[in-house]
Amino acid sequence: MQITESTIADLKITDRIRWSKSGDQRGPVLVLFVGIHGNEPAGLKAIENLSKQIDESATPFRGSVYAISGNLQAINLGLRYLDTDLNRLWELYNTSEDFSQMNGQDWPAEYDESLDIKKAIDAIVEKHSQQADDFIFADLHTTSSESCAFILLNDTLANRGLARKFPVPQILGIEENIHGTLLSYINNLGYKAIGFEAGAHQNEASVERSEAFLWLLLHNTGALKLAREKINEYKKKLGAHPGVPDTYYEIKFHQFVNDPQDFDMLSGFENFDLMEKDTPLAYYKGELIKAPVSGRIFMPLYQKKGHDGFLIIREVSEIWLRLSAYLRKSFVHKYLKYLPGVTPADNRGFEVNLRIARFLVEDIFHLLGYRVTKKDENTLICYRR
Ligand SMILES: [Zn+2]
Repeated sequence: MQITESTIADLKITDRIRWSKSGDQRGPVLVLFVGIHGNEPAGLKAIENLSKQIDESATPFRGSVYAISGNLQAINLGLRYLDTDLNRLWELYNTSEDFSQMNGQDWPAEYDESLDIKKAIDAIVEKHSQQADDFIFADLHTTSSESCAFILLNDTLANRGLARKFPVPQILGIEENIHGTLLSYINNLGYKAIGFEAGAHQNEASVERSEAFLWLLLHNTGALKLAREKINEYKKKLGAHPGVPDTYYEIKFHQFVNDPQDFDMLSGFENFDLMEKDTPLAYYKGELIKAPVSGRIFMPLYQKKGHDGFLIIREVSEIWLRLSAYLRKSFVHKYLKYLPGVTPADNRGFEVNLRIARFLVEDIFHLLGYRVTKKDENTLICYRR
């Protein structure tokens, strides 16, 4: 069902805005997205449970919270999406590109959904821009494989500050590998945004973990105050697998899949499983794919929709993180243009010629908070996040 502009502008409860609450006192504005993928009901159920408990209790509440439905048509059908992935098209909003032809689809259903969601975001920001302490966005998902809970974030210091309060693994720099996500769109607007992945799609624990995450998010951002025992209870619920440290991870490899029908992940992989280089992982177009690097398997694809076959991640050391936090605020950015093979590009960016600048280039730019993407075989483009 489509909702009209006026209902959104009033920010009333609609299919799109499924729950909202405002306290008497000034505080943060939290915007929660659920069901961006229609086959992930855990976030929807968690919002239902949470909203009931909060609406029925007399706990003092600061600021405002909004829960926004994602792909309404796909949610009703229990499908990940109808025409195209609603969590891969947001990059187009930053360009002048035409939406009417996306991935060869003529005006995909998800285009209308994204316009509607964008309208809701704009209305919320406009309504609160005068008095909000902070705007914080969170996007709730689940995975097709078994998994502990984890957080995905674009690697900005503001996002790190928000995410590190949750005792779960944190995956940095997802935006370099997976383009057009809602999180990246929100980050580009200048707000904090983290993604929470609760576990397997149909696992009941995914609902509990989503709920625990939401309670802690409300507490951590100052929207409400939880008692010490409640905090411990929710943290325990989120608690990662003992073999998966709740530290930061970076993405080392991304297996892109053009047509998921051609991709078969070998069975038995769980998210975060450790594996060595050359471990057989999947068949793609009839060929056996082995791990090109060692690390942990991440988001193995066990459904016939989506374009991310699997990723490989590795832990990032604490020293590297502290050093990068320090350097990002420093003056060294001015001097990058003097490095061999580095030329300034538009919009606070640099182009790096890999034939000249070989060693550690990507690492140096990451350390300084740049988003690094490959333009071609020999050129990197680095933009400041
Ligand atoms: Zn999802």
